[in-house]
Amino acid sequence: MKILENQLLAPFTTYQIGGPADYFVEAASAEEVTEALEWAAARDMPFYVFGGGSNLLFDDAGFRGLVIRLRAEGVEVDGERVTAEAGVMMARLVKAAEEAELTGIEEWNGLPGTVGGAVTGNAGCFGVEVKDVLESATVWSPGEGVRSVGPEFFEYHYRSSRLKKETGIVLAATFKLARGEATEITAKMREIARSRIQKQPPGSSTGSFFKNPEGDSAGRLIEAAGLKGHVLGKAQISPQHANFFLNRGGATAAELLELADLAQAEVQKQFGVVLEQEVVFVPEE
Ligand SMILES: Cc1cc2nc3c(=O)[nH]c(=O)nc-3n(C[C@H](O)[C@H](O)[C@H](O)COP(=O)(O)OP(=O)(O)OC[C@H]3O[C@@H](n4cnc5c(N)ncnc54)[C@H](O)[C@@H]3O)c2cc1C
Repeated sequence: MKILENQLLAPFTTYQIGGPADYFVEAASAEEVTEALEWAAARDMPFYVFGGGSNLLFDDAGFRGLVIRLRAEGVEVDGERVTAEAGVMMARLVKAAEEAELTGIEEWNGLPGTVGGAVTGNAGCFGVEVKDVLESATVWSPGEGVRSVGPEFFEYHYRSSRLKKETGIVLAATFKLARGEATEITAKMREIARSRIQKQPPGSSTGSFFKNPEGDSAGRLIEAAGLKGHVLGKAQISPQHANFFLNRGGATAAELLELADLAQAEVQKQFGVVLEQEVVFVPEE
């Protein structure tokens, strides 16, 4: 385990934003995560765990403590079950299922980020969310250590779980899929990839910035508030999709947060709807 000092966080995020972490480590296994946690605990130091950096916004000032980035390759197929370490990219998980001729997660083709990020945030697209296929997970929680839990542990709802509110780390996850037909699985994955290219606006983003309010869409509301394409410094609300907030090159976290505040305030003023942020802002300390 190699702990780096003063490591810029920006390169590890889809936003390319984030100042230096005092300490930074990449953990490839549950053992390495535990080792990193012990290192931080021995120094009474705060820690922050992340994966693909595709749903968060690090502070321009970075992080005063240890940032642990999960990055792993391990995927195992056992009958209709696929188990992946938390740091595995979703693309690798989807590919492993395709190769094993297992159906159920073709819809996640093109979903950025890691298995741990997806399990924590109940990620989903094209009608399939993590909660629909998760069978069990290995998690670490303060005081309780490492243990295996069922999906009910996460108390899932739309783009959220209890790990969005309390400290805990997903170390691995097992998904229960079903036998499928190879050509159908591959065809579905191609169709999903095409659909993503058509629908997803270009540019550096974290996907949807706000959660969709019940029965409506955040993009529709922000557009109706007159903010589609709005520019603030180097940040911009996408001219194609008003719930995609872009870094046009050199934007700061402060600019994106200001843009988000503006959208939230206007939508509330004009339509009485309070938008809830999907993207996680990670303050300096
Ligand atoms: C272009 C684009 C398109 C997107 N499309 C979609 C979409 O269709 N559907 C969708 O749901 N999302 C979408 N997203 C958002 C994002 O990809 C997902 O939320 C993804 O699951 C985040 O995973 P990550 O590993 O990048 O998480 P990170 O950004 O690294 O982390 C996000 C949060 O999860 C926590 N976390 C990460 N790993 C762990 C872990 N192992 N244990 C505990 N906590 C952890 C972090 O602390 C942070 O709070 C999109 C993003 C982009 C950039």
